[in-house]
Amino acid sequence: MRCSLCDSQKLTEWVYEDTRVWSAYCLKHPHKLIVVLKRHVMTPTDEELGHMMGVAMMLRPKAVWVRSDQNQHATVPDHAHLHEK
Ligand SMILES: [Zn+2]
Ligand SMILES: [Zn+2]
Repeated sequence: MRCSLCDSQKLTEWVYEDTRVWSAYCLKHPHKLIVVLKRHVMTPTDEELGHMMGVAMMLRPKAVWVRSDQNQHATVPDHAHLHEK
């Protein structure tokens, strides 16, 4: 299954990308970053989650990051992501 995120459609400016994740400003919250897993799954492996957290903490060390499975407003459907609180 594929979606616009799988195709890496850039809806807002990206601030980071590697082979597994990318980071951009949230569409609904222009000052908040999201870190999105490239794989089309809502549940990351522990290893993937660790990598996502590592990238998130590198980009915004002092931010609080909310996991997509604990986040009611799902701006990013079908891809595990972290959203800056
Ligand atoms: Zn997808
Ligand atoms: Zn948002």
